[in-house]
Amino acid sequence: MKSTITIELSTNKKPKPKASELGFGKYYTDHMFIMDYDAATGWYNPRVVPYQPISLDPAAKVFHYGQTIFEGLKAYLTGDGKIRLFRPEQNMARLNRSNERLSIPAVDEELALEALKQLILTDSDWIPSDAETSLYVRPFVIATEAQLGVNASTQYMFMIIMSPVGSYYAEGIHPVKIHVESQYVRAVRGGVGNAKTAGNYAASLKAQEEAYAHGASQVLWLDGVHRKYIEEVGSMNVFFNIDGTVVTPELNGSILDGITRDSIIRLLKHMNVPVVERQLSIDEVVAAHQEGRLVEAFGTGTAAVISPIGELTWEGTRYVINEGNTGELSQKLYDTLTGIQRGTVEDPFGWSV
Ligand code: PMP
Repeated sequence: MKSTITIELSTNKKPKPKASELGFGKYYTDHMFIMDYDAATGWYNPRVVPYQPISLDPAAKVFHYGQTIFEGLKAYLTGDGKIRLFRPEQNMARLNRSNERLSIPAVDEELALEALKQLILTDSDWIPSDAETSLYVRPFVIATEAQLGVNASTQYMFMIIMSPVGSYYAEGIHPVKIHVESQYVRAVRGGVGNAKTAGNYAASLKAQEEAYAHGASQVLWLDGVHRKYIEEVGSMNVFFNIDGTVVTPELNGSILDGITRDSIIRLLKHMNVPVVERQLSIDEVVAAHQEGRLVEAFGTGTAAVISPIGELTWEGTRYVINEGNTGELSQKLYDTLTGIQRGTVEDPFGWSV
């Protein structure tokens, strides 16, 4: 049985920020989506309501044990006034994979997608139209039962909030400096690294601070067991162009299966560029660099799409990649994928909704 989504419109619309003030996640639209869960009823009362604070019991499990998951995707306004989403069904599928790992009851993916569309249509005047801007959409689930036992909550809230965001790169894509992290690890196999859950991000902050202290903008994460296999870069998946073959770490349980990652792999295959998913050690990357075979490296994710890596620092040594410039392939992938997302490049995959 499908529940119908009710809509309560805001009578107190907020002023919209200028495109130049947007940044990331600073402003929120006039409405949000909420749906509740309790063990007896299942998910119920899906509704679009005015954006507002929520009230929770201080004993709500989410505050103590981090039983929570989230997603992130973007809506784009195209030149012809249409609103586009990029593979949103993939986000809803991953949302339920994260739910499963965190012992949170699955949401109806079709209903969640419908809720997302309803909310976007309700706040469509919040989608910025300037080049490179978009509406960032954040679905999430929190455990709300007020009970301190360490077991799965019997009550939850599924919510969607939205934020107009600015261009990730003010002046076109540019390479970043990366600190290869040797002390902290992000996740381990058997843990929750392949779920989009708060604890992974809380655990990453310390290393991120260290990266800043080293003059880098992100960390390159190595695996937690051997401390040598490459996993991710910051909160992005990572790719290396070694002698014309693009290598990305295989999904092993501790890596998040990024939707941009999957799209880049498919796009590379479509372009007849060799691409392999396999274990890749930092030693192999350093050796490739020393032999002049490391052509380019880049991160992938919803926020930046492609983030070229200009420099790696590993155990005190700096390795400059492609003379610190954006690689040809990185640029081409960025242009193609952002073009597909915004409808200016033909979409042979049927990704746009
Ligand atoms: N890894 C992590 C840890 C992330 O948080 C993200 C962002 N969701 C990604 C990779 C990239 O995933 P996506 O391409 O789906 O945004």
